[in-house]
Amino acid sequence: MTIYFTTVACVVLAAAAISAFLADRAYVGSYRKRMRENVYHCLKCRSIYTSRAAGESAVCPVCGYRNGRIKF
Ligand SMILES: [Zn+2]
Repeated sequence: MTIYFTTVACVVLAAAAISAFLADRAYVGSYRKRMRENVYHCLKCRSIYTSRAAGESAVCPVCGYRNGRIKF
C-alpha cells in the first residue's frame, strides 16, 4: 500500500514540475520576443512604434518617415 501512495505522489510531483517548467518556458519565450523588438520615436508625427526589422532605422507606420532606433 505504501508503494502505491509513493508512486501516486511521484506522479503528482512530476506533473507539477512539468507544468511549472512549461509555464516558465512560455513566459521566457514571450519576454524574449518582446526584447527583440526595437522602439522608435517618429520625429515627424511624434508617434512611438516598435519594429522587429533588422537595422538601426524603421519606417513610421503612421506617416512613413524613417526614424532611428531609441537606445536605452
Ligand atoms: Zn510618423
